[in-house]
Amino acid sequence: MIITVSFLGEESIRVKYMVDFPTSARVVIIGGGAVGVSCLYHLAKSGWTDSVLLEKNELTAGSTWHAAGNVPTFSASWAIMNMQRYSTELYRNLSTEVDYPMNYHVTGSIRLAHTSNRMKEFERARGMGLNQGMDLNVVGPSELKDRYPFLETHDLAGGLLDPNDGDIDPAQLTQALAKGARDLGAKILRFCPAVGVDRKNNEWIIKTEKGEIRAEYVVNAAGYYAQTVGEWFKPFGGRTVPMMVMSHQYLLTDEITELKEWAEESGSKLPLLRDVDSSYYLRQEKNGLNLGPYEGNCKAHWEKPSDPMPDDFSFQLYPDDLERLEWHIEDAMARVPILGKAGISKVINGPIPYAPDGNPLIGPMPGVPNAFEACVFTFGIAQGGGAGKVLAEWLVEGSTEWDMWSCDPRRFTDYCDHSHCVEKGMEVYGHEYAMHFPHHSWPAGRNKKLSPNHHRILKLGGQMGVYNGWERANWFAKSGDDTSEESTQTWSRLGPWEKRVKEECEAVRDAVGVLDLPGFSRFHLSGNGCSNWLENLIAGALPKIGKMNLAYFSDHRGRVVTEFSVMRYGQDDFTLITAASAQWHDYELLKAQLPLEGSISLEDLSRDYSTLIVTGPESRLLLKQFTSADLEQPWLSLQRTTVNFFEVDLARVSFAGELGWEIHTENKNIEPIYKELLDAGAKPFGMFALNSLRIEKGYKTWKGDLSTDYSLFESGLDRFVRLDKQQNFPGKAALLVEKQQGIKKKSVTLLLDLTECDAPYMATLWKDNKIVGEVTSGCWGYRVGKSIALAMLHQEFAVPGQKLEVDVFGLRVAAVVQENQATWDSQNKRITA
Ligand SMILES: Cc1cc2nc3c(=O)[nH]c(=O)nc-3n(C[C@H](O)[C@H](O)[C@H](O)COP(=O)(O)OP(=O)(O)OC[C@H]3O[C@@H](n4cnc5c(N)ncnc54)[C@H](O)[C@@H]3O)c2cc1C
Repeated sequence: MIITVSFLGEESIRVKYMVDFPTSARVVIIGGGAVGVSCLYHLAKSGWTDSVLLEKNELTAGSTWHAAGNVPTFSASWAIMNMQRYSTELYRNLSTEVDYPMNYHVTGSIRLAHTSNRMKEFERARGMGLNQGMDLNVVGPSELKDRYPFLETHDLAGGLLDPNDGDIDPAQLTQALAKGARDLGAKILRFCPAVGVDRKNNEWIIKTEKGEIRAEYVVNAAGYYAQTVGEWFKPFGGRTVPMMVMSHQYLLTDEITELKEWAEESGSKLPLLRDVDSSYYLRQEKNGLNLGPYEGNCKAHWEKPSDPMPDDFSFQLYPDDLERLEWHIEDAMARVPILGKAGISKVINGPIPYAPDGNPLIGPMPGVPNAFEACVFTFGIAQGGGAGKVLAEWLVEGSTEWDMWSCDPRRFTDYCDHSHCVEKGMEVYGHEYAMHFPHHSWPAGRNKKLSPNHHRILKLGGQMGVYNGWERANWFAKSGDDTSEESTQTWSRLGPWEKRVKEECEAVRDAVGVLDLPGFSRFHLSGNGCSNWLENLIAGALPKIGKMNLAYFSDHRGRVVTEFSVMRYGQDDFTLITAASAQWHDYELLKAQLPLEGSISLEDLSRDYSTLIVTGPESRLLLKQFTSADLEQPWLSLQRTTVNFFEVDLARVSFAGELGWEIHTENKNIEPIYKELLDAGAKPFGMFALNSLRIEKGYKTWKGDLSTDYSLFESGLDRFVRLDKQQNFPGKAALLVEKQQGIKKKSVTLLLDLTECDAPYMATLWKDNKIVGEVTSGCWGYRVGKSIALAMLHQEFAVPGQKLEVDVFGLRVAAVVQENQATWDSQNKRITA
């Protein structure tokens, strides 16, 4: 078949391209933007050359063609930073690697800080960057002026220098990746829209206007059309893709004489400037400037039935809307006065898709076999390279080198309806460069899932946070406490919550506390043979009947995929409980491995049941008033009983590390039980207190301390691994090898010298001026009166008493490796009392 196409570009050229329409492929990718083509290139590089990409128009026709092309490495997220760093490394060599000329200017960048809080954010990013091998630097105002002579610095606190930042021509990038993919044997069909999918005999059939392609795997890389494409997968278990579309504008100026002269004289280009506190980027484009604000008074598109997304918006833009940007233009002119010396030559106003947290969707499509997503990118040029690598690893290896939970499509569950997506997308866009403080909860898109106790908790002063859509109290304020959002804009632990969290922890230590915990992910597993089936999947052993224990799933490399609390009621009768956010991840994990035939049944009961944690030395006395259960039964025992005459499962366990029980019961019972416990004297406590209590005890959380970045042995889970069991569970071979060769990193607990802030996630550990590990969670321990960090430390330094330093927002804080993971009750006397 001969297809004649016209390219868009600086010159219009006509190309004749011969393509044989493929009727089968291993993978079909829908969408030919920077991301889809990068996926194709990486698949081909991994040897999966039998891959086909479908593009409804010309490559880049979606968001890619008009992107500003900025390629930062900065991110507050470890995973996103990994992806962006990889992109810069890829792009540096791509032109040579695939023999395609490309404009990629590595100019470096400057992020400006107006405040000391912002400087702290930069310091944290600097530490993370150094740990990833990048030379980020935090500097004062005078050095900024040296690097950027046109900058007004009088009111600045300083800035962050990123030598790897720069800009790339997005169309050339896409074409280079396309050439590389084609040269390796992958196929690209342009002007070939996918129009639907079907599934027969365990194969996908991707329908196009030119015929059908059978494929083992399909990838939705359709950019802002991803929701439309996603609808086709609903008959096969899919959901509405959680996204919305924002309009984003940048403007280009005419040539600026001063800039031209400076560029000619210095022979260089200005570093890319981001004034993150004023929310815009400013980049040299030829001898003019490119200004791109993320404005608070932003605009969503195509979110109402009266304004539907057009079937085809290829190579189109929205009308200019400069009024929205007025404040930012004036602010930028004050910051870089030469900006005011030239007129505006062009405005680009185009669509960007947003997921509710602003991160893309990369990974398995929830509910659908052999279908993946690589879509909804707000920074698809900067992240495209890394995203291609990640997606190819998902397909080829079944897991990714870096833990990618922050981009995993399964992180959004049933609460992400249209209004939630629109509200969150607007919020994220309007705060694109905002700092994410540890005690702050973003206000948009809230109250999606409420505990039956919600109103009582609000009356008690509950300050709410959101966990997989569920509202839970973070702490309980008293009359007169400052509960404003402004008060949470700090990295310090010393906010208005501090006093109350301390009181809550002390109540749990000295008396008894109760925590309302709606939304645990909860699966009922039953049917003949399910215990054998489960035993084949977990690294350790199942509990005996009437007991509970922890069970871990590993990937083929021996890394931690998930953690279940397993409650066993009968030979083949279990409830599996996991983190709220793990709901779809873990359900899919189990469902994907269920035997097609047989009587094993798996039910997701997460919405129907709830949990109360009752814990503290007086918890037995308290519960005795409401139950006839045997409260002398040991740690990890499980009883079906009644509390306050309601049927419950009572588990002798406490994540807070005190004598305690979890009460699991149907939602309808939870309110009267909670009320009775409060009336009988239990003090309500919140998630901030729980976090502090569990860190003191060395208890780990999923996707905080436990992730696919580390193996089970590295994570200190040795006692949950049975290498001598006969079952060949996933990862067993890798763990056997690791056992012989030794681990690279080891999970340790550190006690830190006193500072105002606790160690944030991924704070770097230093020994003799070398990075030797990173923090996975940190908090003040009110029972031990110290700042504590759980961390992953290079094995050779993981000895009790080892002295280190932890970079806490730029401050090197002395720390000591502890003998035990638990800094509180290391002999477990209190929990077993
Ligand atoms: C003004 C502006 C400036 C930006 N600046 C930057 C920047 O500086 N840096 C940065 O990283 N990001 C930037 N972005 C964001 C960036 O443009 C996007 O994140 C990126 O282009 C997304 O790439 P993609 O491949 O996921 O999607 P797209 O480029 O939208 O590609 C999706 C493709 O899928 C195709 N498609 C859709 N449906 C079908 C179908 N049924 N069959 C076949 N094909 C289909 C479309 O035609 C399209 O080509 C900017 C965006 C805007 C609007």
